[in-house]
Amino acid sequence: MQYFYFRRHYGQTLNNLDFPWKHIRRFNAYTNYCHNTFGERIQKLSINAGFTCPNRDGTIGTKGCIYCNNSAFNPSYCSSLKSITQQINEGIEFHTVRYRKANKYLAYFQPFSNTYAHLEILKLKYEEALQHPQVIGLVIGTRPDCVDNEKLDFIEELSLKHFISVEYGMESCYNETLNLINRGHTFEQTIKAIEETAKRSIHVGAHLIFGLPGEDISKMLDEATIISKLPVTTIKFHQLQIIKDTTIEAQFNNNPKQFHIFKLDEYIDFIIDFTERMNPAIMIERYTAEVPPRYLVKGGFGLLRTDQILQKIEKRMEERKTWQGRLC
Ligand code: SF4
Repeated sequence: MQYFYFRRHYGQTLNNLDFPWKHIRRFNAYTNYCHNTFGERIQKLSINAGFTCPNRDGTIGTKGCIYCNNSAFNPSYCSSLKSITQQINEGIEFHTVRYRKANKYLAYFQPFSNTYAHLEILKLKYEEALQHPQVIGLVIGTRPDCVDNEKLDFIEELSLKHFISVEYGMESCYNETLNLINRGHTFEQTIKAIEETAKRSIHVGAHLIFGLPGEDISKMLDEATIISKLPVTTIKFHQLQIIKDTTIEAQFNNNPKQFHIFKLDEYIDFIIDFTERMNPAIMIERYTAEVPPRYLVKGGFGLLRTDQILQKIEKRMEERKTWQGRLC
């Protein structure tokens, strides 16, 4: 089964079935997909389109999810006071100066809930981004309860001409956890949103956080089996981080034992255990999260950057002679 999976996804002829891994990575990496699909490096540009969130504006709640502090991952060029075009231009300059150059970009509607507005407003915002000559598609971050058929039908239309991914904050597969973290939606709503999106052949992204209150290692690992049955295209994993100026910061200070704060070595083995149980067709986009140190109270991995941690994960997979889906 593994052989056919990797042939299908990577188009490679694997001559030595006992040890095919020397040719390919041990997990289904989204970066490989992007490279194969677009033929070059693609950079995501965060856009703050000025949306809010029903869990903040009073529609569902006012306090938000207990870990939420959108400033912690907002790049300096990203501000709702600027037009989308201006943010894209400044974002391109920001990335060109600091990181490797890219020619093509995905506009990443990231902070808050980016389908939480009237359809006509969404059309204006998405279309402005897609009109930029260097933008080849959109990544739309949102909540599962902020999409409906009308919005998904429009996104489907866009996806016929552009690369479009809708990323859902899933965070946990357990309703008890979703209650504890004050998400304001259920896992059943997450499943419905994912299925409705996938039904329209739109890429579906999902986020999952490890270390949330009430979840031990075995409960977290069981999520691999649950997710494997959903039509998810890509997934991002986050270790729980305690971020300043959030509800979770106060809860952590009162009772730190209710949270599972991973140490790096423990996380690496845990995330490999998780990957082994995951459907190999789901692409993994990110294994860890990082926030600027000034926002972090607990849960970071020191000075190591995400790409350095990824190297450690891949090295450990090699040592363990394992791969995504081995136990799926
Ligand atoms: S849904 Fe997102 S933006 Fe809204 S409160 Fe939760 S984490 Fe914050």
